[in-house]
Amino acid sequence: KVKVHNLIKTFGDNQVLKGINLEVHDNEVVVVIGPSGSGKSTFLRNLNRLEAPTSGSIVIDDMDIADPKANINKIRENIGMVFQHFNLFSNLSVSENIMLAPVELKKASKEKAAAQAKKLLAQVGLESKYNATVQSLSGGQQQRVAIARALAMNPDVMLFDEPTSALDPEMVGDVLAVMKQLAKQGMTMIVVTHEMGFAKEVADRVVFVEDGNIQEQGTPDEIFNHPKDPRLQSFLDKVL
Ligand code: ATP
Ligand code: MG
Repeated sequence: KVKVHNLIKTFGDNQVLKGINLEVHDNEVVVVIGPSGSGKSTFLRNLNRLEAPTSGSIVIDDMDIADPKANINKIRENIGMVFQHFNLFSNLSVSENIMLAPVELKKASKEKAAAQAKKLLAQVGLESKYNATVQSLSGGQQQRVAIARALAMNPDVMLFDEPTSALDPEMVGDVLAVMKQLAKQGMTMIVVTHEMGFAKEVADRVVFVEDGNIQEQGTPDEIFNHPKDPRLQSFLDKVL
């Protein structure tokens, strides 16, 4: 479903992604780990075209999104993204945030979008917040709304970039639980996280990125219990 071939991204003379090859299958959960500055966010941002790849190909649902002629809006409709900072519209209510894209892009009538928002809020455990203002929510609640908003477009793939890093510790569990449930429902997910517990429990595959390359990948057991690459070993020594 997602097929990345020899993806290279350069900023000026800084080559940040040095030829990433990765295939993510339908219903697969891939967790991306690696040190700060290794290119994890840049990789995700290329996948939904927040950054334009320098070279290589990214095929999602038979669309090559690295093609400069590709329809960026169509791409983004299919790929939900959740960021560290929730980026909700604070002048809109919770339900308005969730309904905005489907209504604006004429994917659904207002009535349909409203019904869907209600359903999605129930899914993330926030049924009672339908009319709430964004400011009245905790960080963890805002992040769950951000997940609901991304799901409102019925994406085929969900990308998460450190979705719990900005949260107070007591909020982290609720957000991870929503992600775990999403994985169980069969969502295809690529998740950058430092939550190694989540990776061990939920990932089908863990990918270790360092210095713009995938240095090692495998099952959680292979990566956490039998790491081969010395850079992975030293990374794990620091984070575990
Ligand atoms: P972290 O764990 O800290 O989030 P990361 O693995 O997500 O790190 P990136 O944010 O992808 O790392 O950054 C990788 C490199 O790319 C860094 O050297 C960064 O300075 C550089 N970089 C990222 N975005 C840009 C940009 N828009 N312009 C120039 N350089 C950039
Ligand atoms: Mg990052």
